Amino acid sequence: MTDKILYEGKAKVVFATDDPNVVRLYYKDDATAFNGVKKGTIDGKGYYNNAISEILFKLIEEAGVPTQLIERTSEREMLAHTLKMIPLEVVVRNVAAGSASKRLGIPEGTPFKRPTLEFFYKDDDLGDPLVNEYHIFNLMEISSEDLELLGIYTFKVNDAVRPFLLERGIRLIDFKVEYGYDNEGRIRLGDELSPDSCRFWDAETNEKMDKDRFRRDLGDIEAFYAEVLRRVSNPPA
Ligand code: UDP
Repeated sequence: MTDKILYEGKAKVVFATDDPNVVRLYYKDDATAFNGVKKGTIDGKGYYNNAISEILFKLIEEAGVPTQLIERTSEREMLAHTLKMIPLEVVVRNVAAGSASKRLGIPEGTPFKRPTLEFFYKDDDLGDPLVNEYHIFNLMEISSEDLELLGIYTFKVNDAVRPFLLERGIRLIDFKVEYGYDNEGRIRLGDELSPDSCRFWDAETNEKMDKDRFRRDLGDIEAFYAEVLRRVSNPPA
């Protein structure tokens, strides 16, 4: 096993393995928000996010969207296909919240008439701006077919994950995913799908069960991440 770090992000470390087509992802407890301005640690977050992502990646794969997951190998690690990441954050929103509420003046909690797709260009210096298809073609090399596929895949993720969570008492308000190309040029869903990258609200109380507890200093962060893992690990109540 090698300890060579290929890349270290805000929430994960990517290690090389003996196979160039396989990487080892390590999920950290570090938390950041507002483009890295707010920093902290959420005890156990790496464990919860690794386990939650594994469960949701498997669900997504069954729904026909290729993912990076090969297998979870320990509490905080998974083996994954090496991906050349596309510098886009792809967001689907079912309910207005966060930046969409601010930008559009739609109060947080208002359901969208239909699930809504947004792209953000991943660039810390620019603060990850909202971009449309025309912007994207000017910012990177990507075919129209591949860009269209990102939208199709992300709606499929929503169609698979939303009912799965609702059966377990969680509303999927919105989420962000990222994609990359594997060594065969195939697009796969990468990064993670966890309370760090999704908005999860309790279906009964609308209590926030995600990183907004950290962003907005709502407290009990670890307990809510643990509760999300408990619910997704178990059959519907
Ligand atoms: N999101 C993320 N990483 C980011 C920005 C957003 O994972 O850098 C997720 C966020 O958790 C939410 C969704 O994408 O589930 C939409 O976030 P939004 O655009 O509302 O931004 P925010 O209000 O979080 O800044």
